[in-house]
Amino acid sequence: MMKSKAHDIVIVGGGTAGWMAAAILAKSTKGRLGRITLIESTEIGTVGVGEATIPPIQFFNQLLGIDERDFVARTQASFKLGIEFRNWHRKGQSYIHPFGTYGGNMDAVSFHHYWLRLRALGDGTDIGDYCPAIAAARQGRFAPEMPDGPPGGPVLAYAYHFDAALYAAYLRDYATRAGVTRIEGRITSIRQRAEDGYVTHLDLADGSSVTGDLFIDCSGFRSLLLGQTLGVGFKDWSRYLPCDRALAVPCEGGEAITPYTRSTAHTAGWQWRIPLQHRIGNGHVYSSAFMSDEEAEAILLGNLDGKVQADPRPLRFTAGRRERCWERNVVAIGLASGFLEPLESTSIHLVQTALFRLLALMPTDIKDQVTRDEFNRLTEAEYEHIRDFLILHYHATDRDDSDFWNYVRTMPVPDSLRHKMELFRARGRVARVDGQLFVEASWVAVFLGQGIEPIAYDPMADVVREPDLRQRLSRHLDHVRRSVAAMPLHRDFINRHCKASA
Ligand code: FAD
Repeated sequence: MMKSKAHDIVIVGGGTAGWMAAAILAKSTKGRLGRITLIESTEIGTVGVGEATIPPIQFFNQLLGIDERDFVARTQASFKLGIEFRNWHRKGQSYIHPFGTYGGNMDAVSFHHYWLRLRALGDGTDIGDYCPAIAAARQGRFAPEMPDGPPGGPVLAYAYHFDAALYAAYLRDYATRAGVTRIEGRITSIRQRAEDGYVTHLDLADGSSVTGDLFIDCSGFRSLLLGQTLGVGFKDWSRYLPCDRALAVPCEGGEAITPYTRSTAHTAGWQWRIPLQHRIGNGHVYSSAFMSDEEAEAILLGNLDGKVQADPRPLRFTAGRRERCWERNVVAIGLASGFLEPLESTSIHLVQTALFRLLALMPTDIKDQVTRDEFNRLTEAEYEHIRDFLILHYHATDRDDSDFWNYVRTMPVPDSLRHKMELFRARGRVARVDGQLFVEASWVAVFLGQGIEPIAYDPMADVVREPDLRQRLSRHLDHVRRSVAAMPLHRDFINRHCKASA
């Protein structure tokens, strides 16, 4: 049996991706696989945005042994129960994509089919009333879990909004304490082995150089190793996701903190609103083909809830991913591997899953092609799944008030998404693929929110007798109402429970 050799790992970049990589690798390998070094350049800096997350981040923090209350206090975090989408389906209309479930476990089919049946029978209850995350979000309340209710009852899930710079600093402290060597410096050239092109040395501006066996490229949009040095191409998805610019600006927040992200659609893109404890993060994501920078800035500044705290910061990007994220001895993670706009807060999650994949596929031999192929196959599937989910928000719309909306509403979409839309329209079913990020409830929320109505529900929902069905749904509803009414207001929960440990 082949024994693994020690691999010295070099991480290029100290943004969120770099420090997440350093922290989890240090924790998981316990220094037994080889040295871990991270190089970052304060002169170049980080992208510095990325404040909204999705629930699996809890698992990442738990693996690191991070205490949630300490983490929330130190990163000025707030809790997030979902995303409110305003003006996406139509102007004036809004819906929430919640975390957790609608209703609870039913018998043969998912909850929404029973709800569709009741609706067909004339019941006007909003599906969101059966969802604890939506009910709590609407009332500005938060608690981390639901009290006991009927067996198999509704599930509440949550994520965080946090200050990205504070999170990176938090992880930097963690990783350096766990044995990661941090080098401050700018990489000016990269040396490769003549015979196979493997990266061997990173030369820094101060004349020093760093060597390693496995290089993790977390250099951000530059993609210094994977893109620039190894020349791995970029798969451009801007025909589906035409937004290519953003302006980000913080503003003052009030006493109340809404426990959800808000995304408001404008004429050529959308605006995020991410409430933290000490401020609100805002940004306007737009398509430069349909809107000027000046107009985008005016829209952003005209739609803030508090006094502006800094000048708007411009960011440019292209939707897509690297053709292969692992090539030779370089694995790209974070923005160096690709970018999908922050509409569903998936970038930090993509960092997390790439790291778990790398840990699961840590090579015995760095030249192991089959391992790289598997990593690349899984990465591609994950990116395409998220891409389809994002496109759905744009494409399934009634908006026809601008060239931008006319384009996205009528553009051809990937066959994989077309199939999902047709399946839902036919009988409210969601195409299932094991292990994919967005679960059934997420697709149902966005399908219904964007106006895709099933022609019929699953016939299995007819198996339950109507009086039983009414009784069971009313029990779920009652449980959600009572549980949410007992939750504290979000700010009160943070003040009471989230204090930094000494
Ligand atoms: P960066 O932060 O750019 O870090 C790159 C690092 O590489 C830096 O430390 C830099 O100094 C270093 N580096 C580069 N070149 C060199 C060199 N030559 N020598 C030495 N060091 C070098 N994600 C979410 O999950 N939720 C969100 O709400 C969200 N919103 C976003 C909004 C926008 C507009 C954008 C653009 C992104 C958003 N993201 C969001 C994505 C998120 O910001 C990133 O995924 C995350 O911050 C990871 O970035 P990174 O570490 O890959 O890159």
